[in-house]
Amino acid sequence: MGNRTVSDKWAALDQNDPLGSMRDKFHIPDGVIYLDGNSLGCLPRAAVTRMKDVVAVEWGNSLIRGWNDHNWIDMPVSVGNKIGRLIGAALGTVVAADSTSVNLTKALSAALQMRPDRKVILSDRGNFPADLYIAQGIARVFGPEYKLKLVEPEDVESALDETVAVMMITQVDYRTGRMHDMAQLTKRAHNVGAVALWDLAHSAGAVPVDVSATQIDLAVGCGYKYLNGGPGAPAFVYVRPDLQANIEPFLSGWMGHAAPFDFDLDYRPSEGIGRMTVGTPPILGLSALDAALDVWDDVDMGEVRAKSIGLCDLFIAEVEARCGKFGLHLASPRDSARRGSQISFHCPNGYAVMQALISEGVIGDFRQPDVIRFGFTPLYIGYGDVGRAAMILERVLVQELWRNPSFQTRAKVT
Ligand SMILES: *Cc1c(COP(=O)(O)O)cnc(C)c1O
Repeated sequence: MGNRTVSDKWAALDQNDPLGSMRDKFHIPDGVIYLDGNSLGCLPRAAVTRMKDVVAVEWGNSLIRGWNDHNWIDMPVSVGNKIGRLIGAALGTVVAADSTSVNLTKALSAALQMRPDRKVILSDRGNFPADLYIAQGIARVFGPEYKLKLVEPEDVESALDETVAVMMITQVDYRTGRMHDMAQLTKRAHNVGAVALWDLAHSAGAVPVDVSATQIDLAVGCGYKYLNGGPGAPAFVYVRPDLQANIEPFLSGWMGHAAPFDFDLDYRPSEGIGRMTVGTPPILGLSALDAALDVWDDVDMGEVRAKSIGLCDLFIAEVEARCGKFGLHLASPRDSARRGSQISFHCPNGYAVMQALISEGVIGDFRQPDVIRFGFTPLYIGYGDVGRAAMILERVLVQELWRNPSFQTRAKVT
């Protein structure tokens, strides 16, 4: 098919897209095809108006009164409830707070306290290193008999045994998009008496998740990726309702106290999920995230998933057909049921190729050692974007645009 014919086909797909109108809710810079919403989601237009209001009016005029008058104090729970809707969590089981790393610290320490006789944290080598660093630090603080055991992603299930205190798994692999079966692994973990702790950083807003149906114990996730909460947005932590009362918070902060403004000398955790909060909530960040979450009000996650698969499959087909001869190989599972909403390719000179691609207006990112990675966010990416991105990648390779010396030096953030 000629390029004209295929672009007509993409346009037809976009015309019939039930999520097509969602794109207008985002600011997308001119000339950019943004395939990096898995690292930092696009700016929701509602966040702009909300930020103006919260800064100029709420902060500017209400000052300290804002904590009560604008319900700032309840935002960790109210924003948490909006996230909860996207991951199948009941009201009062999620708080928006801190970073993913800090929430993992809280959740992992809680999990270890739930199984005092066991000393093993089980995770896999595909996990995001940030999570492994946290686990290493927690193990050190808990004591020398604690250890982090790492296995290959496909071996997690067989590595679950009665020594494992907690299975700490990131559902969607940041590098390849490979997705673990949450229901099956959780069931297996529970069969051997282990706590199931899931990191949903690349899942929330990307794939349908049901923390209630799968009965997972604890979860954490990210606010700035598919939830579009802005750079460094507050993250979230979920605790299954029946476990909340028994959690002894490791970070026993005053915001998680039963009565912070009693100023008791002794810590007493609040009822429920509130005990997972620590210090004063960041109201500006929470406000942007809150506005970003309203975008999801009428969105059906089933439609998001169907489109995500359509976009990813189209990208694989176009890139393989156009760029396969340049040594690109699919790094993601070909079976859409086994991956999240991103596609990666092993690519010779991957870093320079990605820099050249970015300079041509297609933004993805690079991950060690040779992976070029593309995130597909169905709320604001269309089939035409995906097809054009593959054509531009082909041009970068055919014309060897990546050889430009300015694309060879690594920046701090890749
Ligand atoms: C993005 C991501 C993080 C980021 O954690 P921060 O505390 O926000 O830096 C952690 N874990 C996983 C699995 C991620 O994908």
